[in-house]
Amino acid sequence: MRGTMMDFPLTIQPILERAGKLFPAVEIVSRQPDRSLKSTTYGEIYLRSRRLARALELAGMARGDRVATLMWNHSAHLEAYLGVPVSGGVLHSLNLRLHPDELAYIANHARDRYLIVDDVLLPVYESFRANANFERVFVVPFSGGKIPRAHENYEDFLSAADDEFVYPLLEENEAAAMCFTSGTTGKAKGVVYSHRALVLHSLTQSLTDCFGISHNDVLLPASSMFHANGWGLPFTATMVGAKLVLPGPHVDAESLLDLIEGEKVTLACAVPTVWFGVLAALEKYPGRWKIANPVRIICGGSAVPESLLRGLDRFGFHITHLWGMTETAPLATTGLIKSTLAHCTEDDKYKIRAKQGVPAPFVELRVMGAQGEAPWDGATSGELEVRGPWIAATYFEAPETADRWTADGWFRTGDVATIDNEGYVKILDRSKDLIKSGGEWISSVDLENALMCHPGVREAAVIGVAHPKWQERPLAVIVAKEGVSVQPEELREFLATKFAKWQLPDAFVFATEIPRTSVGKFLKTKLREQYANWNWGR
Ligand code: AMP
Repeated sequence: MRGTMMDFPLTIQPILERAGKLFPAVEIVSRQPDRSLKSTTYGEIYLRSRRLARALELAGMARGDRVATLMWNHSAHLEAYLGVPVSGGVLHSLNLRLHPDELAYIANHARDRYLIVDDVLLPVYESFRANANFERVFVVPFSGGKIPRAHENYEDFLSAADDEFVYPLLEENEAAAMCFTSGTTGKAKGVVYSHRALVLHSLTQSLTDCFGISHNDVLLPASSMFHANGWGLPFTATMVGAKLVLPGPHVDAESLLDLIEGEKVTLACAVPTVWFGVLAALEKYPGRWKIANPVRIICGGSAVPESLLRGLDRFGFHITHLWGMTETAPLATTGLIKSTLAHCTEDDKYKIRAKQGVPAPFVELRVMGAQGEAPWDGATSGELEVRGPWIAATYFEAPETADRWTADGWFRTGDVATIDNEGYVKILDRSKDLIKSGGEWISSVDLENALMCHPGVREAAVIGVAHPKWQERPLAVIVAKEGVSVQPEELREFLATKFAKWQLPDAFVFATEIPRTSVGKFLKTKLREQYANWNWGR
């Protein structure tokens, strides 16, 4: 027997519509490039998102066409997040920190048709423009300056449209947004989020036991809107009508603290590197910021150490730990303390909070050890696998990656973990050969392959080593060819043509050999042990 309920598609359209009707006066504050604050409202965002939808329609955008963005976190980016999907387009946020070759590859692979770019990011666009194929490029006058004549002004594009936009009837499994991840080996991979996935993700994210985002919140997403689906926050915030405070390009600790104080932020989200900086600033300038409310923080992207939890608690900033991936939209676990553990000592609670948390509703997790599925005993480790309604089932047009999913439909995360008898996940290591520096990926394999093309290098292994600010930084172990002398500076210059500056190893150490496994692969675990206490200050 079938239920008698309506078959109502879960799409972004009702999210935008509700914000326009119920929360037109709620503010969205954006920090501009010159540091001034610009205020708008959901009422305005509603009108402008629909204008954008109509303008794209008039420009000939077809269902499923990709509209790329190269933008900081500010109100025009929110418009794109909403306006593109409601008209049947696919919002594709580009990571402005990538090397031009990678940006060109990603835009071409996604077959992006249009690009919306902040004027202050035109140099990034120019760096890969020759190798990209956008049909039209709209430049947002974010800095308030004049748009160069060679470009189309985003504001003119919007003004030229009428207010006749009518929502097309969308199916809930149609694509709404996409995001590429470099968190895999080889070329970046695209994840395509359906409307249904984003709606269910938003509903779950707003649960008190997850992010608890509500109409009463003042939300500061210091996590980039060009990373991991903007952590889902543009959709969830709009769905509940939370006031948004968008930091623009100013994501340093002091600017964030100024915003938290000035706008009375109640909830902020970012990777640990950002919060290390905030903690250091709070310690350096005692009493400088008068922060009235306790601030809730959602922190993930890399492991949150207990010291950071304790440090920020002292200043009234309470971190909830999250584990997730671009492939998981990204919410997968959150570090709530279950009511049955409320009796634990403070020390034990910190230990629990430093774990990655328990699975969110509808997210299923398992650890696959050497003997098959591991018991939830907090000791047996293996690769963490995940499935659920907002977890990627494939990458975009990358059939060679099919082995990232098991035959029975679980996604292999590449993270090594345990799950304890209470359901808390603890990430122990990464089986994927990658380094995460301040929330951005660096491929050790790509660096090694490039280094081994240098005429003076016989072998090179690159590992991630713990770093006090960036969590991990790359260190290269080099075996030089016999009788050849190679200098670190020469190797850096050699790599600089192919990699973004922040991806280059911070240290090159020279060795006579690299330890290997029985099958001849580099024994990275041994190298990581050997350099675990590397002093970056040297
Ligand atoms: P991304 O797709 O760039 O968001 O990266 C996802 C990856 O970041 C995961 O597979 C983990 O390796 C890592 N990661 C994310 N959150 C955490 C966390 N809370 N603790 C440890 N690693 C994390």
